[in-house]
Amino acid sequence: MTFTWTPHRFSGGVLALDVANTIILRMDPQQRRDRFDDPDKLEAFVPAVRELCAERDLAVQVATLHAQNGTRFRQLREAIDAYFRKRTLAQDTKDDLASLLEAIADNLRHGGGPAALETATALSALRLIGEPGPERMKICANCGWLFLDRSKNRSRMWCDMAVCGNRVKASRHYHRKREETDP
Ligand SMILES: [Zn+2]
Repeated sequence: MTFTWTPHRFSGGVLALDVANTIILRMDPQQRRDRFDDPDKLEAFVPAVRELCAERDLAVQVATLHAQNGTRFRQLREAIDAYFRKRTLAQDTKDDLASLLEAIADNLRHGGGPAALETATALSALRLIGEPGPERMKICANCGWLFLDRSKNRSRMWCDMAVCGNRVKASRHYHRKREETDP
């Protein structure tokens, strides 16, 4: 199946989370996949951010990722996921916050200026740390991605209703049908 960066892959609501979500099924060592392992996908991620990321003020500026910053950028991505995932689960985040701040500083210091993906991602993460209402951040009940729930009553359970919501519903329906026909 050919891969493209679709709106679904930008369900995080902010750049920092969209970057963290470029690892698929992070929690499952068997199925885990890193979309940035393919240099073409990483390259295609830059224009996709500009077009699809909800954090418009940062996204529209993104024009490049400095190739020499690939490792540093991935470290930032892991630090973003580790800190915000633990914060969402109300776990101890002291060390993770320190690591994230270091990764942010590192990417700002060695990044390619305001047009670079790593700079914009670092700024997005910094913004998110100080954002009031961390309770709006959630972990998708189906795929484990982090996302911001901007719904009025904070009732979102899935990163993307059209994808993960429907998969869960279809699976429930399937199991119910099976129980009915196969008691
Ligand atoms: Zn999901």
